[in-house]
Amino acid sequence: MTARILDGLKIRDEIFAELKQEIAKLSARGIRPGLAAVLAGENPASQLYVKSKIAACEQLGMASWMHTPPPNVSTEYMLQLMRDLNADDNVDGILVQLPLPKQIDSKKVLEAVDPAKDVDGFHPVSLGRLVSNRPGLVACTPAGCMEILRRYDVPIEGANAVVLGRSDIVGKPMALLLMHANATVTICHSKTRDLADVVRRADIVVAAMGKAGYVQADWIRPGAAVIDVGTNKVTDPAEAEKLLKNFPQRLEKFRAKGNVLIGDVHPDAVFTAGALSPVPGGVGPMTITMLMSNTVKAAKLRRGKTAVVGQ
Ligand code: NAP
Repeated sequence: MTARILDGLKIRDEIFAELKQEIAKLSARGIRPGLAAVLAGENPASQLYVKSKIAACEQLGMASWMHTPPPNVSTEYMLQLMRDLNADDNVDGILVQLPLPKQIDSKKVLEAVDPAKDVDGFHPVSLGRLVSNRPGLVACTPAGCMEILRRYDVPIEGANAVVLGRSDIVGKPMALLLMHANATVTICHSKTRDLADVVRRADIVVAAMGKAGYVQADWIRPGAAVIDVGTNKVTDPAEAEKLLKNFPQRLEKFRAKGNVLIGDVHPDAVFTAGALSPVPGGVGPMTITMLMSNTVKAAKLRRGKTAVVGQ
């Protein structure tokens, strides 16, 4: 038996269809949700991410703006840009693509974003709301993991959930979301002892460590649900051969291309888990999806009440 595949692309399409309806309703009231993306510097991966985010806005009929300050931009310039975007009523969401150039005080810039427009969920006010289980904007990747679990009816209440990783953007918010959904949550990190034994007790495993294929298939309790957040580009042929020995087609593709995307969970876990989000095609598409969802939510919360019906 192989695991049920938790298909992020399918869920993205479902959520996009729902968002289109919400955007149409808002448009009928004179509100066009809009996202301002700020891309400072010339990091090629960041350029690609921002391009996909703008393309998603266009696909959904949302407004979008791209600000591209030069690599030598100052913190003061960035802070003024945040003030301008905060003051612009057409902007519902502000996305500051990380990492920012070295000379910039990133924390200061992120804290300058109006929490009502904090569609990445990184502002301390958003994190505080999440800790205290108040409504607000939640970080996109963990919010996407929850959508996968919920839309595939994975039972969360009372489940033993193990989160591997404690970063501010994935592990910590993920653990909080699972706890608020009444799971019993264990958070693991690089100093955790007997990791395999901890994982073996889990009904739900969320792996967000940044280590290709680290979580072994025999750590997964048969039938457990596995959400693999890791996106690791493997280029070493010996490593790829080892990880993909049971997946000849993927290995062929690796040989042709010279790299392959591997999650934090060993691909063989598909033979032990009950349900598994694949890499690629699992959590990856959900991050942009939840960014779009947060932008629509921010528009509704901030402008929804004041809009004139029928406008
Ligand atoms: P991060 O900030 O580097 O955090 C990694 C976490 O994993 C840390 O808490 C670290 O523990 C823990 N860790 C590292 N080695 C470990 C080990 N051997 N045993 C147990 N825990 C260990 O990474 P991140 O930003 O959270 O991202 C994690 C992964 O998710 C990366 O592969 C990233 O590319 C991917 N990601 C994907 C998406 C997506 O859209 N699909 C979005 C965001 C991130 P310490 O705290 O003790 O150092």
